[in-house]
Amino acid sequence: MSKNEHPLGISFEFFPPNTDAGREKLMQTRDALAECKPHFFSVTYGAGGSTQARTVDTVKQVSECGITTAPHLSCIGSDKGELRALLAMYRERGIDSLVALRGDLPSGMASIGELRYANELVEFIRAETGDHFEIAVAAYPESHPQAPSFDRDLENFVRKMRAGANLAITQYFFNADAYFHFVERARALGIEAPIVPGIMPITNYTKLARFSDACGADIPRWIRKQLEAYGDDRESIEAFGEEVVTRLCQRLLDGGAPGLHFYTLNQAPPSLRIVDNLA
Ligand code: FAD
Repeated sequence: MSKNEHPLGISFEFFPPNTDAGREKLMQTRDALAECKPHFFSVTYGAGGSTQARTVDTVKQVSECGITTAPHLSCIGSDKGELRALLAMYRERGIDSLVALRGDLPSGMASIGELRYANELVEFIRAETGDHFEIAVAAYPESHPQAPSFDRDLENFVRKMRAGANLAITQYFFNADAYFHFVERARALGIEAPIVPGIMPITNYTKLARFSDACGADIPRWIRKQLEAYGDDRESIEAFGEEVVTRLCQRLLDGGAPGLHFYTLNQAPPSLRIVDNLA
């Protein structure tokens, strides 16, 4: 970590906007978050290459501020030739960090592609580009929604770390014990790399509930009930969300989490308020 980086080892995730207004807003968000001196920014990628061009453009724009910017790269629905070309292009542009994922097959896309799981993508990146990229992979303290069991999912996680990943970023969760349990089990299987908790600030209950159902993140009943009770009262939702997520982050850091990765949804204030509370 450089001397300039935030002592908590934070990072921020963006999605590639699809309008000019969205792009302009993202630049403001980036500038506001850059003030925290994050370890890196990352930019999501649509599986099957659906946002490929937008991810590439967004990575370029975001990285212009001088902060390491890691493109996400998913393998499902892509062939090796496409992935090889993308890796070569990122390398040429001086990108040296990636978040490697399987992704989810978009509806209507029939072909899985040549690489079926993230461990195969990590192997492929290492075979093609050696140690050029620092590779992060996804981890699921509450289990990936398609996993047959926690233990099988953990084995699959260990497999992709051993394939050459340098760190892991978790799916978001609101139960710190799920994270500590996952880390303990991964350590027992010999995984020493950092496992950074993914943090979702709470700002909108309807959207949060929808995302959480899709990705298998549990919203504890007491949080759900309180958010439901606030109805359309956005201010109360944000204040409660800030308190709950700040407390979660503090507990994670106190328990040894090596940093925090914020799912910003391209908004600066909710993540910034939490970082400020922690500082
Ligand atoms: P994998 O690690 O391949 O796991 C997928 C499933 O297959 C799991 O159930 C696992 O247990 C099982 N499995 C894994 N390896 C094997 C194997 N060798 N044999 C049999 N079973 C196996 N999605 C996007 O589309 N774009 C993004 O930019 C994006 N960014 C993300 C960032 C983070 C930090 C996280 C946590 C998720 C992100 N996702 C993104 C979502 C992710 O693509 C989905 O969760 C996807 O369903 C799984 O991707 P993965 O890389 O974790 O897959």
